[in-house]
Amino acid sequence: MPPSLAILIDFDGTLTTRDVGDSVVRKFASAGWREAMTRFRTGQFGIRELWEFEISHLPISRIPEMTEYALSIAVPRPGLHELLQYAAQRGIHAEVASNGLSFYVDAVLEANGLDRLVRAAPDLDTRPDGRPGLAFADGLRQCPRTGLCKCDRLWSQRRAGRRVIFVGDGISDMCVTDQADLVIARASLAAHCEQSGIPYKLFHDFFDVLEEVKGEESHRAPSESRSEDSRD
Ligand SMILES: [Mg+2]
Repeated sequence: MPPSLAILIDFDGTLTTRDVGDSVVRKFASAGWREAMTRFRTGQFGIRELWEFEISHLPISRIPEMTEYALSIAVPRPGLHELLQYAAQRGIHAEVASNGLSFYVDAVLEANGLDRLVRAAPDLDTRPDGRPGLAFADGLRQCPRTGLCKCDRLWSQRRAGRRVIFVGDGISDMCVTDQADLVIARASLAAHCEQSGIPYKLFHDFFDVLEEVKGEESHRAPSESRSEDSRD
């Protein structure tokens, strides 16, 4: 019987070595976008307001140019292909759960031969006020705090009977750490787990993640047989 595991992977700064969305904003956003971080630091903005304010300064007419730039800077973290290959061989579901924008997430995945990798990411679209904003395709749940509801992605895997490993690095991953069966974190997400007393494993690359996934599989086998034994 194949292991019932799922791996959810954040995109910016996790699947890729740098935060592509942040770099796109820095390069293309019109004057005034930096006010977002000031308001975030003073508590006027939450995570979603921070991101929405930044992307509202992006030139939506220049998506092709922004995509080209994203492709020029995005580097998958080492070990990604090995992890995904292992997951495919073992029947482990792997999915990207991103609060970054679909135009560059899709382009980067496709450029790296990962066009069939399941992913969830909001679109950049024009809001009624004429400014760019987040848009969510059918089937994607929004979170008022962060944008894409990564917990919903996790819950759908759990409903399918899978234990869920979450791999992430940043503020839009914080809610989901309470929900995952195993959290694998770096950067500010690791700091958040430390401060909140949430157990986690530190990773530097996807070879580290692969080792944790293998460990999770080996831990599962005895506990499953124990639970079978204890049914009577
Ligand atoms: Mg991230």
